[in-house]
Amino acid sequence: AIGDELTSGERLDTNSQFLSQQLGLLGIPVSHHTTVGDDQSAIAAVLATACVRSDVVVVSGGLGPTADDLTRQALSEMTGRPLIRDEQSLGHIRALFARRGRTMPERNTIQAYFPEGSRPIANPHGTAPGIHLAILRAGDAAVDLFALPGVPAELTEMWHSAVCPALAARLGPARRVIQQRAIRCFGAGESQIESMLPDLIRRGHQPTVGITASQATISLRIVAEGDSQSQCQEQIDAT
Ligand code: AMP
Ligand code: MG
Repeated sequence: AIGDELTSGERLDTNSQFLSQQLGLLGIPVSHHTTVGDDQSAIAAVLATACVRSDVVVVSGGLGPTADDLTRQALSEMTGRPLIRDEQSLGHIRALFARRGRTMPERNTIQAYFPEGSRPIANPHGTAPGIHLAILRAGDAAVDLFALPGVPAELTEMWHSAVCPALAARLGPARRVIQQRAIRCFGAGESQIESMLPDLIRRGHQPTVGITASQATISLRIVAEGDSQSQCQEQIDAT
């Protein structure tokens, strides 16, 4: 998630929450969230790290036309691929301004530039197209990186229309399932509950069991990963 408004705490990062929930529905476990401010080399550095440790990277924000939106430049810096103008995207941006009866500010041209070899992701209701970039790794599967605008309505729409179908195709029949169940407890403290369940909270236990506390309620969250819903349910029931 990219933006000074997020690192400053001015705005809550609801896009990461949405994306994690959606990735979970696809059976893709999320290992990291990273939030970074509007600083090009800092963005390039976190993207490079993300592409080493994950097969799929979804980026939110920083695709606007203003000088503080630097995701495309950071992608170019990280991959060493120059930014190249895409005429079709430029046409879409011009048409959007024309429909609203405005002339397109020169600055918006930047939104039609994409790192060489990437694919624009259509944004029907906004000026900023997204960017899909496949990044090759030596001896490993390519990373699919999707950069989406930060505006939640646009990100959500583009997730459903482009990113989710692309990930489902990548997974193919090997698609996994993730299921959760929460058990809410009242009356005992967090560590007391843990001592009643000695082995379950251990890291590496399958399915994973986590404890969270919110006011007087202690929640146990069981998360199972498997090949099918019934396999997950079996593990959850036994736990
Ligand atoms: P940007 O694409 O970076 O220009 O972001 C556009 C707007 O979307 C920002 O001004 C925020 O109001 C909102 N936004 C950006 N990132 C997020 C996020 N991670 N969660 C929720 N809203 C966001
Ligand atoms: Mg921004």
